[in-house]
Parts: sequence; structure tokens; C-alpha cells
Amino acid sequence: MRTVTLPAQEVPVSREVDVLVVGGGPAGIAAAIAAARNGAKTLLVEQRGFLGGMGTVALVPAFCPYTDGEKPVIRGIGLELLERMKQSCDADYRRSYADRLDWVPIDAEVLKRVYDDAVLESGAEALYHTFVGQIVMDERGGKVEGAVVVNKTGRSFIACGNVIDATGDADIAALAGAPFQKGGEKGELQPGTMCYVLADVDRRQFDRYLKESGDSGQIPKAVQAAQAAGDLPEGRKEVSGFAWISESLVGVNFGHVFGVDGTKAEDLTRGAIEGRKGVQTQIAFLRKYVPGFEKAHLVSTGEQLGIRETRRIVGDYVLVQEDFLDMRGFEDDIARNAYFIDIHMATSKDQVTIRRLPQGKSHGVPYRSLLPVGIDNLWVAGRAASSDRVVQGSLRVMPNCFAMGQAAGTAAYMAGAAGQTSRQVPVDRLQTLLVRQGAWLGEDVHRRLGVEA
Ligand SMILES: Cc1cc2nc3c(=O)[nH]c(=O)nc-3n(C[C@H](O)[C@H](O)[C@H](O)COP(=O)(O)OP(=O)(O)OC[C@H]3O[C@@H](n4cnc5c(N)ncnc54)[C@H](O)[C@@H]3O)c2cc1C
Repeated sequence: MRTVTLPAQEVPVSREVDVLVVGGGPAGIAAAIAAARNGAKTLLVEQRGFLGGMGTVALVPAFCPYTDGEKPVIRGIGLELLERMKQSCDADYRRSYADRLDWVPIDAEVLKRVYDDAVLESGAEALYHTFVGQIVMDERGGKVEGAVVVNKTGRSFIACGNVIDATGDADIAALAGAPFQKGGEKGELQPGTMCYVLADVDRRQFDRYLKESGDSGQIPKAVQAAQAAGDLPEGRKEVSGFAWISESLVGVNFGHVFGVDGTKAEDLTRGAIEGRKGVQTQIAFLRKYVPGFEKAHLVSTGEQLGIRETRRIVGDYVLVQEDFLDMRGFEDDIARNAYFIDIHMATSKDQVTIRRLPQGKSHGVPYRSLLPVGIDNLWVAGRAASSDRVVQGSLRVMPNCFAMGQAAGTAAYMAGAAGQTSRQVPVDRLQTLLVRQGAWLGEDVHRRLGVEA
């Protein structure tokens, strides 16, 4: 590839902070709130004009379960934000979902404001429309000294004590030279999906159709009939999910765009174009085959294709399939995960892989899985945390990302306050603080800390 050498450039230091959080999705939001509430001078940098990550950028229509089927597993900041979104929705929404913790539909416009308010109230500063594309390391290469940001103000340097990579793609860890993996052994990646919101839909008529036809909520009968008739392309034989925001407004997660690497702008461009085209085909199908959708009106597609999988860092501990299946706990657990393994197929000919834990069960997420090998002041929380590909298919969902983010933000505050590296943070004190601030870390950890679970 042809290259050019850019002239050396002096850039202003626009900010100096204790904790820099890059990426304003669930992991970054919780990390910034946790760090700031504990007293760290915190900056949250986000490339879009709003927070929320996949839930608002890509219109992922619902929060995955917060519970293990018996009790809430994800608590703390994540649960607080869920309840706050519900409280900010209208009375009909609250009547429908007030007591629900699993598969709660997302009203993206409400959620964006809830996130703005919660982050600002925590004392963190938010800087939107700003991309981090370069970082500066210390001479040893083991510590991030700050990030070079680009925005309409220009290029500048943000100096920081500690950094949380909540980009979902481990952008910062990759820039720092930390080891990572991407996809499967043959480079296969879960597909993307262009989610969208439809208005002028009749939920009651849809429910009546389900009852009368015996089709399930993911309408496999209708999808397969349309595939057989050539009205839908081959691929998953059902809709991934509908999330009813009101009786006439529904969020849709349907179909796949294959072969998109979310760390490549060219792929994201193709994915967005293909995704929007696919949505037109899907709406034509819904109008023709599914009662209640005859007058469906497209309100919005995601600002980008929803991305399920890109990089996973190699951390001090790599969570593996056996940890999930054996429901292992770790001395340094900072969260528990009860969501099922949910790996969407890499090609239209494959199947979705699903493996569930028994009701009431979960496995631990150790602190070490947030620590990229070789870097002392960087935490990677969210979709890109350290796990094998199978566990990533479970850990990646939004409630888990909140929990990992809260832990990373709290640890970054502690490290900064005590002048310690990420690995020197005393884990029992981190766990105590997390539990005091609402997190649930599993019966064993609570028993050891002497705090009721
Ligand atoms: C189609 C689809 C369906 C899904 N369904 C569900 C579901 O039903 N329920 C559920 O709970 N989860 C679901 N998920 C998973 C979930 O939405 C994501 O895995 C989760 O949002 C990841 O959170 P995160 O905070 O790690 O990253 P993200 O949500 O991806 O947020 C990362 C943020 O960082 C910003 N960013 C990235 N790089 C930079 C940079 N260099 N500089 C500045 N900003 C940057 C991005 O703009 C983004 O806002 C789904 C995902 C997809 C794609």
C-alpha cells in the first residue's frame, strides 16, 4: 500500500482528567457514572451525538434479561438506568413494563435523554461528536498517557491517569498494542443486523394472528412461507425479535448482513447500504404476510448496522466455554452472567447456536477479564472483554456491559486515588465498593464479604 509521512504536529492539550472513558455505549456509560460518582474527574468521549451504543445507534430493540429467571443478576447502575428509562416513558408503556426486567423494549429517544441526564448528574463530563483515533503511550509502552481526539474543534490531546476502553471494538487496546482476537479460527464473524422501528402497526391484530395461526412470536411460519415463495432471502428462519414500544410502534431485529467486519469503514458502509435495502424487503414481507402490519410505516433504521462481534482482548484471564457451562465463580468476580450463548450464524446457510444455563444459575466474570495483557492503566469493558468466541456470544449483551462498565469505572477511580496500577487494585475492596453501590456478585462473594445477597 502506498503511504505518506505526515509532518510532526503540535496539538493543544484540551483536557486533563483522572479517568478517560472512550465509547458511550452501556459499558462506557456505566463506567463514567461509576468513576465520577466515586469522585474521579471523568470524561466520556463518544463519536456520535448521543449515548447508548448499539441500543440507540443501531436501534437494538430490547434489553436482554437482567435476571437468571428467578432474581436480578444485573443490578447497580444498569438496573437503575433501566428503571429510569421506564419511569421516563409514557403511562401506557409503564403499565405494560413496570414489573418486567427481561426483554424490556427500548424507546431510543427516551433512553438517549436518560443517559445524558444520568452521566451529567454523576459529575462526569461528556464530549460527543469526538473520535479517538490515536493514543500516546509512555516510553515503556505499558501505560496510556492520553488520547488524540478529532472533532469539529480540531485535533487535541486529552491527558489522563487511567483509561477505559468501552468502544465495543477494543479500539484503544488495539492502538495500545495489546493482544486481541477477532472472530473465529477462519476469521468468521457473527453477522450484523439493521434494526428499525415501525409505526402504524396493530399489536392486537398481530396477537390475534399468533393465536389463530399457532405461529410463535418470532413468526417462523410466516418467514418460512415467504422464503419458500422467494419473498425473503434464505437465512434465519424466524425474526430475531419484536419489541413493542406501544400498541402501534414496534422495534424490529430481523435478518442478517453477512461478512461485515465492524472495524473496517468500507465494510460498515456496505453493511449500512445492504442493511437498509434488506429492511425494504422485510417490510414488504411483513405487510403482505403478517396481519397487523398491513399499514406499517418505517420511522427509522439504525444509524449504523448493528455489530455483534469484532475484537476480543486477550486479558489476564480469558473466560472460556467451560467456565460458562460449569457456572464457575472466581475469587475476583466483578459481575455474574446468566444470559444464554447466542451466536448468530456467520453465513446464511448456518444456524444460530444457543446454549442456556439452568434457571437461577449464572457464572462469574472475573476482574482479570477486563485487564488487557501488558497495559497497566487500561480496562476493556463490554463486548470486547476477554473471553473465547463462545462466551462472547453471551457476555456481549447490554445488561452485562453495564455491569462490566461499573466495575471498570470503580476500579479506575480506585487506582487513580491510590496511585496504583490496574493490577494493584485490591480486589476485595473493589468488590466491597461495588456491592455497596448496588452490584450483585453472586452468593459466594457476598458471603465472603459479609453482605446479604
Ligand atoms: C443486531 C443486534 C441485536 C442485539 N440484541 C440485543 C438485545 O436484544 N439485548 C441486548 O441487551 N443486547 C443486544 N445486543 C448486544 C448489545 O447491543 C451490544 O453488544 C452492546 O451494546 C455492547 O455494548 P458496549 O458498551 O460494549 O458497546 P457499544 O454498544 O457498541 O457502544 C460502543 C460505543 O463506543 C463508540 N465508539 C466506538 N469507537 C469509538 C472511538 N474510537 N471513539 C469514540 N467513540 C467510539 C460507539 O459510537 C458506541 O456508541 C445486540 C446487538 C446487535 C448488533
